[in-house]
Amino acid sequence: MTGGATQGSGIRFDQVSVAYGGNIVLDRLDLTVEPGEVMALLGPSGSGKTTALRAVAGFVQPVSGRIRLGDRDVTGLPPHKRGIGMVVQQYALFPHMRVRDNVAFGLKARKVAKAEIPERVAEALELVGMAAYATRYPRELSGGQQQRVAIARALAIRPGVLLLDEPLSALDAQLRSGMLAELARLHRELPDVSILYVTHDQVEALTLADRIAVMDKARLQDCGTPQELYRRPRTEFTASFVGNANLLPVTVAGTTGAVDFAGQALAVPTGEVEGGVTATLCVRPHLVGLGDGPNALTGTLAEVQWRGSTHRLYVDIHGHRIKADLRELRETPALGDKVTVHFAAEDAVLLPAGAGFGGGVHG
Ligand code: ADP
Repeated sequence: MTGGATQGSGIRFDQVSVAYGGNIVLDRLDLTVEPGEVMALLGPSGSGKTTALRAVAGFVQPVSGRIRLGDRDVTGLPPHKRGIGMVVQQYALFPHMRVRDNVAFGLKARKVAKAEIPERVAEALELVGMAAYATRYPRELSGGQQQRVAIARALAIRPGVLLLDEPLSALDAQLRSGMLAELARLHRELPDVSILYVTHDQVEALTLADRIAVMDKARLQDCGTPQELYRRPRTEFTASFVGNANLLPVTVAGTTGAVDFAGQALAVPTGEVEGGVTATLCVRPHLVGLGDGPNALTGTLAEVQWRGSTHRLYVDIHGHRIKADLRELRETPALGDKVTVHFAAEDAVLLPAGAGFGGGVHG
């Protein structure tokens, strides 16, 4: 392997902190990306996602903690010795160079034998479906094509680790979904490459990632498979950031399996949580049904939005607005009508106040 490439190595953040001018912007990140795994770093703007990525690439130095690629501690290594491919939002192609020279750039910088370069360039362009565009200049390509070339350039060095920083956010919606499918295909063709994918877009994270690391305020808040985070979020932040959620303030009742919501008893799984504890109940809008049923709640219809495949109803109940996404709505109730909604006990997740993602857990 050239340039310290690390085929199938995985990434390990070990208590990594980064500060800018005394401000901690990444706080003791503990996370492991397995060889061949796609890990999305998902979180709002400013939560430290790009900083984590740049720390892996070697563009920022942690104030404490170690970064490992496989069994190599790369914390002090310069970027070009890490064997990493990186793609950023703005493509960053060299405008005066043809596509093939852009893709060859990293290989030349890493002193790959001259005779080997054309073959490596062709291989990388083939991977992203851009073989026919080798002699074009970036200005002769669409945004999506430029991003493919940027990905080819990152792949040409045959990296063990691919870092993608909001790679689709400069593309329009239609191109974005095409590129998402492309990235999924690329991942299938490169099963040994670990991918760390920074995004604030939950659809990208849910679609592409094997696991999602949820970031907020410089810290890892949660980590799990998309299904785990969606079905069993551990924190309110995860519940609201990964998918849509009704979050109801409740108090756990003395008896197991019951909570109090504004004076009304609801039957939900309470697990080990003790009576008297205040908590948040998370129910996904598509799991709320219209009409009578278990955990029926009656209120006033405040708003109806038609969303193509579903109707979103907003119902005011005990001073809280509850969202219900309904596929079939034979008769739309009128605004101001009394309506009853319900949800099954097993579709509710209880989030005790202050519940968080325990420290020291390696992703
Ligand atoms: P995200 O990728 O989640 O949007 P970033 O990792 O880019 O977040 O930024 C985290 C925090 O660090 C933000 O508050 C940002 O303003 C700050 N920050 C990022 N880069 C720098 C820098 N070069 N100098 C000073 N502050 C920075």
